[in-house]
Amino acid sequence: MASLSLSTASNYRGRLAPSPTGYLHVGHASTFWTAFERARDAGGVLIMRMEDLDPDRSRAEYAEAALEDLRWLGIRWQEGPALTNPDLSNPALGGPYAPYEQSRRHAFYLDAWRKLHSGGFLFPCRCSRKDLEAALNAPHEGAPQSDSESNMEPLDDEPIYPGTCRPDASKIPQPPLSPASEIAEPGSFNWRFRVPDGQVVEFVDLNLGLQRFVAGRDFGDFVVWRRDGVPSYQLACVADDAAMRITEVVRGEDLLKSTARQILLYRALELATPAWFHCRLVTDSQGRRLAKRHDALSLRTLRQRGFIPEQILSGELQVEV
Ligand SMILES: [Zn+2]
Repeated sequence: MASLSLSTASNYRGRLAPSPTGYLHVGHASTFWTAFERARDAGGVLIMRMEDLDPDRSRAEYAEAALEDLRWLGIRWQEGPALTNPDLSNPALGGPYAPYEQSRRHAFYLDAWRKLHSGGFLFPCRCSRKDLEAALNAPHEGAPQSDSESNMEPLDDEPIYPGTCRPDASKIPQPPLSPASEIAEPGSFNWRFRVPDGQVVEFVDLNLGLQRFVAGRDFGDFVVWRRDGVPSYQLACVADDAAMRITEVVRGEDLLKSTARQILLYRALELATPAWFHCRLVTDSQGRRLAKRHDALSLRTLRQRGFIPEQILSGELQVEV
């Protein structure tokens, strides 16, 4: 699959997937610029998908700011959320795979959940966050949250699930689970994907080369649906990339492990995988990853201070944080 998008350039479909939980910063600019360049150089289509899944953390003002800041940088896309106030420099978008806001795509995610559920890949988990921490017998790891894409999803870098609610393999109901007339609903449970322990998940990243993870060791049974009715980043991302016919995913290297999880979802859903190009992350002068809390490096602030896009994209920005 990896070479498909390169050899058939006109079929290239890439995406920008900002999460409106804060202002975009220099690191996002770098990754999104790479996505823009690769789509442009391939003569392909770039879509804008707003990853506003989490109603508690997403804000309309950040979504607007993301679109505006990326356009200011010089990034253009061909499909995306329809604008309420289009003008000549800001055409009304939309496209064949609308809607392009995750908050409006619930039906797609529910459909994916049902397929996974009826395929026997999921189990309900009643553990609270406290239960999990107690079971892991360790304080919550201070692992940085993923911040380069849909980021901010607190479960993206979840610790390995201790297996509290995991049924024996033999007890996972096999299809047909229920009469066809009964439509399964997630209800108010967390649902986890049962990973095939010990299975090697390998893929060739177009930027970073061969990547290799072992299910059950590098990551455990991961959440695909939250008890508050919100699908997880992993599920929504796979459902959308497949539905939107994405051929290449460009995102930050902090999501490599998520890619391994997502490959398991692609397999379970019997969907073809896209190619991947993970970008090195931008770090600050102390070598730490940028986060949305680094306000001094937000595109908003830098614009206000008179920086121009070329400086921001040069990779040599000297800013004290
Ligand atoms: Zn559990």
